[in-house]
Amino acid sequence: MQTSVIGYPRIGTLRELKFASEKYFKKEITAEELLRTGKALRKIHWNTQKNAGTDYISCNDFSYYDMMLDTAVLFGIIPKRYKELNLSELDTYFAMARGYQGNSGDVRALAMKKWFNTNYHYIVPEVEDDADIRLSGNKLWEEYAEAKALGIETKPVVIGAYTLLKLCRYQRRPLEAYIDAVIRAYQDLLKKCQEYKVAWIQFDEPALVRDMEEEDMALFRKIYDTVLPAGNKSCVLLQTYFGDVRDIYPELIKMPFAGIGLDFVEGKETFDLIEKYGFPQDKLLFAGLINGKNIWKNNYKKTLLTLEALKKKGIRTVLSTSCSLLHVPYTLKQESALSAEYLCHFAFAEEKLAELEELKNLIECKDYHSETAYQNNERLFAGDRDCKNKDVEKRLSLVTDEDYIRLPKRSDRQKLQKKAFALPELPTTTIGSFPQTKDVKANRSAYRRGEISEKEYVEFSRKKIAECVTWQEEIGLDVLVHGEYERNDMVEYFGEALGGFLFTEKAWVQSYGTRCVKPPIIWGDVYREKPITVEWSVYAQSLTKKIMKGMLTGPVTILNWSFPREDISIKESISQIALAIRDEVLDLERNGIRIIQIDEAALREKLPLRKSDWYEEYLDFAIPAFRLTHSGVKPETQIHTHMCYSEFTDIIPAIDDMDADVITFEASRSDLQILDSLKEHNFETEVGPGVYDIHSPRVPSVEEIADALHIMLTKIDREKLWINPDCGLKTRGVSETEASLKNLVAASLQIRGEV
Ligand code: GLN
Ligand code: ZN
Repeated sequence: MQTSVIGYPRIGTLRELKFASEKYFKKEITAEELLRTGKALRKIHWNTQKNAGTDYISCNDFSYYDMMLDTAVLFGIIPKRYKELNLSELDTYFAMARGYQGNSGDVRALAMKKWFNTNYHYIVPEVEDDADIRLSGNKLWEEYAEAKALGIETKPVVIGAYTLLKLCRYQRRPLEAYIDAVIRAYQDLLKKCQEYKVAWIQFDEPALVRDMEEEDMALFRKIYDTVLPAGNKSCVLLQTYFGDVRDIYPELIKMPFAGIGLDFVEGKETFDLIEKYGFPQDKLLFAGLINGKNIWKNNYKKTLLTLEALKKKGIRTVLSTSCSLLHVPYTLKQESALSAEYLCHFAFAEEKLAELEELKNLIECKDYHSETAYQNNERLFAGDRDCKNKDVEKRLSLVTDEDYIRLPKRSDRQKLQKKAFALPELPTTTIGSFPQTKDVKANRSAYRRGEISEKEYVEFSRKKIAECVTWQEEIGLDVLVHGEYERNDMVEYFGEALGGFLFTEKAWVQSYGTRCVKPPIIWGDVYREKPITVEWSVYAQSLTKKIMKGMLTGPVTILNWSFPREDISIKESISQIALAIRDEVLDLERNGIRIIQIDEAALREKLPLRKSDWYEEYLDFAIPAFRLTHSGVKPETQIHTHMCYSEFTDIIPAIDDMDADVITFEASRSDLQILDSLKEHNFETEVGPGVYDIHSPRVPSVEEIADALHIMLTKIDREKLWINPDCGLKTRGVSETEASLKNLVAASLQIRGEV
């Protein structure tokens, strides 16, 4: 049996690519230096896989920003406004990813969306009406040749035509207008692969795990029946992940792919589909059995049982990861703070390579049951992790239906709150964090390393809070925030303060471009030991007569941005976290904080990819868990929530059901479509659709913001609209933040002056 890796992380064990890119953006290093860093990383990644014994190693899984953007560039899908900047190829690429403001012009970045049910974000390619889609880029072959020169035969990876067509954004001409051009481009791609003597090419088609209508299936057939005519000789691996392909499976297995990659981890029905429809002898099954998304060790017993069952059916199987390893950190070797009793339960990317190899050897043994590797693994899973907490269990069992309901009803609360706060109409606010400047980060890390005392740390943070409050007052914002200087990350910060979490030191995972996150690990039952944010918020409130928002992260987001347990359900973990956050909400209220924001930035993330599973498998417990955090507050206490990315058009009733008083969300980088849907559904919650994009360093003008507000006012009642940026400001610089917020306030004053 052979092994395959769908994709490998690319940011570097110590985030080398991130730091090099950021230096390049600041013009501190040249393009050549950045490219050299990329090349060095690719070499390490390939060699690591080769040395671990991986048989099918990918190339072109590397990216300077995002693989969807790479695919767009590969096929020349570059909007004119970026070409017209007349920048180098690399800078045009970055202009699409991050926007551009400089001597050559001023353009916004392309939209960014979450990659299926992950916390990775892809750049949405934009197909202009006169787009000329054709094979244009060279990256794929350059990387292939680069690996070959190192003596490594790789399989180039590229997003497949179906997923590409499905995820692009179009102008007036719809998707259908581009099918033929896309097919031709992929045909040319295959031709070129043959010229390069590429043995295998991997087309990633995760869009197949979503619900497929008859016309989707027709589209898929049309694409591949043309790209791969019957009798085709190129070894194409059709790779799927993040779920099962139940709609198209019976047809998929009849199509001329040399290999089909299926997900056995998230694909609930994958095995049943094989049982029911079989799997052809002439193809390889790439069985995704090693979880590419979570960090727990593989359960060998279960995996080997599946492999044996496949073997018995005579299926030629390649053991594979369930998805790209992009979603897990590099290696446990960097983790020196966690003791061996914890570490022995985990496998990051490198350790997963070792698992692939170990399993490959075990399945080939006559009797793997007697092998040490197998027995060690079995013992690990049979052991007790010591992660249960009786009090948590008891408290959860006492929660009643009433605990999920806040009274009085929202419309009554909103009236009371309007009176109590007496805010101007169209109130302005921000999402919470302010720029995390070098001194802020240095203060935190000095404290962490024990170089400064707690008193010094607190004093510095208080000084920053005081400056931030003054700053906001000077600019003229209405509802203030304390700036979140004490937080490294909105989830890690809470995880560290809660019982039941474990932390890593270097376990970074790419979220988008140069942004990485370090998700905590939920090890055991979760509970709050003592108040977390209260002192900071109370201090900030003491500095101003304006209202200070308390700032918390909600239970769904804490769970979604952590590595979850695999021994209890997600529902159970979320409920435990909800009770802990509820304690914090009530403590804030008790201490005079009158507006409390509970961020659910990642609410949509684990929404099942198939609609039929949405409620039962997720929303039916995620939404009530949010309500449990705030149902205990007084009517006058205003609850805000915030969501990144406005892609919730289809779950608007569920969002309204969170029963928050106000919601802010991203809207500027995607279009304002969501507003129509809010109106259509009679959305009750007050809303602050972000008026400018904080993921880009560019400063929006007053007119631009005022224009956005005018559009919003045609769809949202004036009494219900808030004015705020897209998201927190922590990743931005001070000067651009100041300029942008000033423009935001100026625009709000302008609009208030208009009737
Ligand atoms: N309150 C957080 C902040 O402002 C929210 C961040 C987020 O939504 N990702 O940073
Ligand atoms: Zn956000």
